Amino acid sequence: MNTALSNKPPEVIHDTASMQQRCLDLRREGKQISFVPTMGYLHEGHLSLMRAGKTKGDVLILSIFVNPTQFGPNEDLDSYPRDLDRDLELAATVGVDLVYAPLPQDVYPQGYATTVNVNGLTETLCGASRPKHFEGVTTVVNKLFNIIQPDTAFFGQKDFQQLAVIRKMVNDLNIPVEIVGLPIVREEDGLAMSSRNVNLSAAQRASALSLSQSINQAKELAHKGETNVQSILAAVRTMIEAMPETAIDYLQVCHQLTLADQTVVDRDSVLLLAVKVGTTRLIDNSFLLD
Ligand code: AMP
Repeated sequence: MNTALSNKPPEVIHDTASMQQRCLDLRREGKQISFVPTMGYLHEGHLSLMRAGKTKGDVLILSIFVNPTQFGPNEDLDSYPRDLDRDLELAATVGVDLVYAPLPQDVYPQGYATTVNVNGLTETLCGASRPKHFEGVTTVVNKLFNIIQPDTAFFGQKDFQQLAVIRKMVNDLNIPVEIVGLPIVREEDGLAMSSRNVNLSAAQRASALSLSQSINQAKELAHKGETNVQSILAAVRTMIEAMPETAIDYLQVCHQLTLADQTVVDRDSVLLLAVKVGTTRLIDNSFLLD
């Protein structure tokens, strides 16, 4: 039996006021809401969050919104892949009940003037190379939490810094939502799944493999007893730079909670990297000693 065909398509709401009312009604009925925010063009990484969401609560809500405010002026907002029909079919296969797919002008109407900013954690790594990125993320996630009022929200460790920033925001602002972080889902050859992978040519995809391969090499070194972060980063750099069309944005080993740079590897060490392959910016990360 084709399970994709046996699943009820989710209800789709585009209008923000209607979405907020629908969610208020659900809460008044006593329903527990699980929520997965995404920018769409869904893949197995997203679906793993939805499957986890399905095991909690009564209603599973997915948002699909390519949030313009988290893209810089020279970034890939226009070329970011989009396909709502395909996303709705995939969402149906994992039992999503309700999809919120707003338009940018509805989320940010004319005169919109409020932002949410988490200091400190957003100043390194992706925050250093994408100055307004996290302000865009925290503002939209805050809005989504206010519109949907979820009990639990699911995020991927693929965006390790984003997860840390959201946990901090939720804690600092006393937002009544439980944040669940879930592991990176990878292609069979190790490439971390990303909506942006579709923009890679075959040759670039081969180069992109150097991210996960160099992470594996770094983990192997750490497991063999290498504790010097500089030596580990040098090995990672060599592997990535050996591949055509790669340009490293950052390679860092950071403490999992503070995201502060480390010089010596320990149980809290996370290797984080961002690399442009052609024009596509990819990120990946892993604990070194897990
Ligand atoms: P995005 O649509 O890229 O904004 O991602 C939406 C959510 O899916 C975020 O919480 C991401 O961290 C998560 N996600 C994206 N790719 C993966 C992956 N390969 N494995 C696990 N989670 C992922």
